[in-house]
Amino acid sequence: MPKQESGGNEKRVVIVGGGVAGALLAKSLQFNARVTLIDQKEYFEITWACLRAMVEPSFAERTAINHKDYFTNGNLVVSSAVNITETEVLTAGGSNIAYDYLVIATGHADPVSKSRIDRLVHYKTENRKIASAHSILIVGGGPTGVELAGEIAVDFPDKKVTLVHKGSRLLEFIGPKASDKAMKWLVSKKVEVKLEQSVNLDVAEGSKTYQTSLGETIEADCLFLCTGKPLSTSWLKETILKNDLDVNGRIKVDEFLRVEGRNNIFAIGDVTDIPEAKQGYLAQKQALMVAKNLKLEMEGGRDCKRETYKPSSALAIVSLGRKEAVAQLPFVTIGGRFAGLIKSGDLFVGRTRKQMGLEP
Ligand SMILES: Cc1cc2nc3c(=O)[nH]c(=O)nc-3n(C[C@H](O)[C@H](O)[C@H](O)COP(=O)(O)OP(=O)(O)OC[C@H]3O[C@@H](n4cnc5c(N)ncnc54)[C@H](O)[C@@H]3O)c2cc1C
Repeated sequence: MPKQESGGNEKRVVIVGGGVAGALLAKSLQFNARVTLIDQKEYFEITWACLRAMVEPSFAERTAINHKDYFTNGNLVVSSAVNITETEVLTAGGSNIAYDYLVIATGHADPVSKSRIDRLVHYKTENRKIASAHSILIVGGGPTGVELAGEIAVDFPDKKVTLVHKGSRLLEFIGPKASDKAMKWLVSKKVEVKLEQSVNLDVAEGSKTYQTSLGETIEADCLFLCTGKPLSTSWLKETILKNDLDVNGRIKVDEFLRVEGRNNIFAIGDVTDIPEAKQGYLAQKQALMVAKNLKLEMEGGRDCKRETYKPSSALAIVSLGRKEAVAQLPFVTIGGRFAGLIKSGDLFVGRTRKQMGLEP
């Protein structure tokens, strides 16, 4: 294990999951404790920028960040956590890692490349797939499907893009006004949107013909599935936390984001049962709060100074290509260039890199 400077505090903090929440927590605590970050992959990825990387692969050079670049004073274990006990985390690679504090931040199960280099190659391959296709089918009209359709419609306006969504409106995680604006924008870019239909994906290998549940036929040279991913909490089902998962597999937490009834086990990010939209900026907020509270606690601070977490109302910006977006803000929903100015140019990549202590 690499030597760590720990500022005289020797508490062992183990973070499982190096995504939006876990990576920021590891970065924030690395000089205050002996931090171990366990992640399935060697790098942290700015998830909300990965669709841009599909139309512009070089974008991923800034959005896939080796953990070692921002986590310079801790132990990195590249493996899957498979079990936890009252004192240790066990990994698929056979390590038993002892903790004083444990933070679970495993987000969604996403079988992406383990190495950053392979991830960059993946984006080049996806880009070639798009560039060589005449027609593209996107299944799923949530933020991922809508943003991908937007990226392709703007960067490859000659492609025939069809977006199929089984719900009655796009972007169901936010309000109907945002759905309408996204729908109008996509239609204005000649994206064919089919609502209340699903696509039969059980087709012969190499087939380019798809049937929808309403019997429509769609011809597509390439297909992107944007139907959402399961939470990565199933690995907890046989652990000491098996009774702390709700029916949806979310981890039940208290107002300090501690697993209910536990003093030294926390959960942050998409895995928690906090009643709010699962968003990266909220995962970051939770990571910063837990970092602050843990620092206080490790320094022997008083309980009354600890922050509590309050759920936020749905606020979201869905980019529509490079310049436009639809934004649901506290009192208004806006679309077009003004909304795009907030997010769509750099997709908060510079800001996120800066937050991780890196060159924007
Ligand atoms: C395409 C897309 C666009 C988005 N756009 C936005 C946006 O514009 N704004 C916004 O706020 N949010 C956005 N989000 C949502 C945001 O990305 C998530 O809310 C955020 O990533 C949640 O962070 P997390 O740390 O909980 O999980 P993740 O970022 O998913 O990280 C989980 C980490 O845990 C690791 N892991 C999983 N299981 C294990 C295991 N057993 N052992 C070890 N490691 C494990 C994974 O490898 C990963 O590194 C978007 C998401 C997507 C997919």
